[in-house]
Amino acid sequence: MASQTGAIVQQSLTAMMEDTSFLPQVQGERRKQVFQSLAAILSTPNKVHKAFLRIVLENGNVVRIPAYRIQHNDTLGPYKGGIRFHESVNEDEVTNLAALMTLKNALHEVPFGGGKGGVVINPRQYSEKELYHICKKYVQYFADILGPDKDIPAPDMGTGEREMDWMMAEYKSIHPGSPYLGSFTGKSIVNGGSLGRKEATGKGVYFSFRYLMHDFLRDNKDWLSGSSNIFAATAMAHVDKPLTIAVQGFGNVGSVTAMEAYKCTAIRGKVVAVSDRNVTLYNEEGLDIPALTAYASVNSGDLPSSDDALRECGAKAQILDREAVLYLNVNVLFLAALEEQIHAGNVGDVKARIIVEGANAPITGEADEALASKGTIIIPDILANAGGVIVSYFEWLQGRETQFYSEEEIYRQLYAKMQKTMNSILPAYFGDPLPLRQNCFVHAVTKLSTVLYRQGKLY
Ligand code: GLU
Repeated sequence: MASQTGAIVQQSLTAMMEDTSFLPQVQGERRKQVFQSLAAILSTPNKVHKAFLRIVLENGNVVRIPAYRIQHNDTLGPYKGGIRFHESVNEDEVTNLAALMTLKNALHEVPFGGGKGGVVINPRQYSEKELYHICKKYVQYFADILGPDKDIPAPDMGTGEREMDWMMAEYKSIHPGSPYLGSFTGKSIVNGGSLGRKEATGKGVYFSFRYLMHDFLRDNKDWLSGSSNIFAATAMAHVDKPLTIAVQGFGNVGSVTAMEAYKCTAIRGKVVAVSDRNVTLYNEEGLDIPALTAYASVNSGDLPSSDDALRECGAKAQILDREAVLYLNVNVLFLAALEEQIHAGNVGDVKARIIVEGANAPITGEADEALASKGTIIIPDILANAGGVIVSYFEWLQGRETQFYSEEEIYRQLYAKMQKTMNSILPAYFGDPLPLRQNCFVHAVTKLSTVLYRQGKLY
């Protein structure tokens, strides 16, 4: 498994091994053995599936495209996780992302295991018809391992409702009579998708930040201001102050996060920067996020990247290069683009003291340590960006019952679930020298190992 997740799983296991309240019935040599078994289970995927999809391009050429489905762990339920279309997809990356899904679902008590898929393409270089065939072929090659009770894919980077609709239709024709609505999540509403699913990740990302930096701090102000904890000090330095916000990435997650921040009245926040694959847009007075969102929605998802385009859009901003978003002098930075955006080489230039991971694994292990040692608060991926998979779970349930909930009901349940998770972690976090990421990992691994132990799977 690629580095950071593996390293944190290991650290979490070490912390848990020393905590005698965990598995008190297992002590001494036997305890060592149990933890070794746990490390072996969590640091390797159960199954790795790879195929080369044979696709006939529109020009008549035949290509073979590498595709993966990695099933990391199914202790808590069927494998679950998105399918990524990106040219940098590789086995290590998909394995690491699948492991994060196992931990994310365990952390939020979503009754699924962890899986992830990937196809090594840049979707922008393929026609709609070619993408349709890639989706169909993906399902054909992996038909036996997917299914509502086996492994349920969803969108990830480079895929969305359209791809899930195509894939579900192919699944349905391969498995006639099956409860096909539960085979894929993130589908369009007309195809049995859930209201609110598309916005769920971005909404959840902002909610995690708002809950931690506003609701929780407000309710625990007295206790936290007396605490000598390094993270509590950062939190208290920001409470009730006007906050400047930058958002990296303006796709399905970043654009919704930016809009939530723009609309939020509970926190006096101002979105001063957003970025995409071309540019960073900056305005110290605050950006017109509705105008930028409207522009992106009719320009293939891209932000305006020239003065003419900005005039057309009606938003005022300075155009900076796309990386600039990471180094601005802002209070809060949301990372909603690719992984490994903050690394050993640039971490020294990052000024934000609160970072929220909308993307999966956007900070490398080394950079994470450097940030934690100066007390930067990082709301980690498995906590912050779980809104997508939580609403996927609601979609799966609705599909099975063929009964659908209102958008308000979906958000109410989404926030209730995330709030429950945070309430069970935040008090320990603010009283503990461990960063929030480690606290979340310990929580998730504790849940998984308790279940594994009771199932007799740890020797
Ligand atoms: N791809 C999303 C994630 O990384 C959603 C997964 C899902 O809905 O299954 O969490």
